[in-house]
Amino acid sequence: MMYPFSYHRARTLDEARAYFEGGEDAAYLSGGHSLLPTMKNRLAAPDRLVHLAAIPELRGITRAGDRLSIGAAETHAAVAASPEVRGAIPALAALAGSIGDPQVRHRGTIGGSLANNDPAADYPAAALALDAVIETSERAISADNFFQGMFTTALDEGEIITRVTFTVPDSAGYAKMRNPASRYALAASFVARRPGGVRLAITGAGNNGVFRWSEAEAALATRFERGALAGLALDPGDMMSDMHADARYRAHLCAVASAEAVGHQGKLTLL
Ligand SMILES: Cc1cc2nc3c(=O)[nH]c(=O)nc-3n(C[C@H](O)[C@H](O)[C@H](O)COP(=O)(O)OP(=O)(O)OC[C@H]3O[C@@H](n4cnc5c(N)ncnc54)[C@H](O)[C@@H]3O)c2cc1C
Repeated sequence: MMYPFSYHRARTLDEARAYFEGGEDAAYLSGGHSLLPTMKNRLAAPDRLVHLAAIPELRGITRAGDRLSIGAAETHAAVAASPEVRGAIPALAALAGSIGDPQVRHRGTIGGSLANNDPAADYPAAALALDAVIETSERAISADNFFQGMFTTALDEGEIITRVTFTVPDSAGYAKMRNPASRYALAASFVARRPGGVRLAITGAGNNGVFRWSEAEAALATRFERGALAGLALDPGDMMSDMHADARYRAHLCAVASAEAVGHQGKLTLL
């Protein structure tokens, strides 16, 4: 049984903020696919939930030039099926389609995933590699400044993610080794080739959450082919180790996934 809490469905950003501030320990609710399991496990016990799904500013997927903007309340399934996303960044649409199972994809949202910043979540890798800007009720935050370690972001108390704007690359690829039960990444690499160079972000593996592999980025900027990564290795001391995969294996998977993402631009590769 859950602890008692009240539920409020906000219609505007101002209403959401007001409901949030009226609680002793309120939490925003989007798709509920991270928050509700946390509540069921009694790791969180907010006294009120403020549902964001009905706020119009959090909806819609649009492209203008090299900017692709996705509302925070768009589900993983909507991103995966969107003609705008599939046309602009096919690997991003495929990434969304690789998340969890159909129930998770039809309820879970991009804004909830980014706010949660699970160290094994998929979207943080795409946001970092695609130089995304996370727009909030208060300001715009670059992905480089947004992710601050496992389950930690630059969001202030009560701040709401409204949209995420990605820079459309020349091409991008995503390669992921999945946990076969949850589909979360054991190690995954998103590689984006852009006019100014290459950005490569790793999720699922780092013991401080998502990160850019700058050595690999430099090698690929000189020569964009999987062979450019030969001999490069991440330090297992910086990797997570758990019952699913130890640190040395994760470091190895990061290199394999990065090579696959380079070799399969425009695609999702499941290892
Ligand atoms: C069985 C299972 C398998 C999964 N597999 C994967 C997977 O393979 N890959 C993957 O990446 N994820 C996976 N997930 C997680 C899933 O993608 C979640 O949907 C996602 O992490 C959270 O999004 P949500 O909309 O459900 O957020 P919620 O659970 O509603 O919220 C999560 C957190 O974000 C906050 N929040 C939500 N929206 C906002 C906002 N707009 N502004 C500020 N704060 C906000 C909430 O207060 C809460 O703290 C899985 C989940 C389950 C249950």
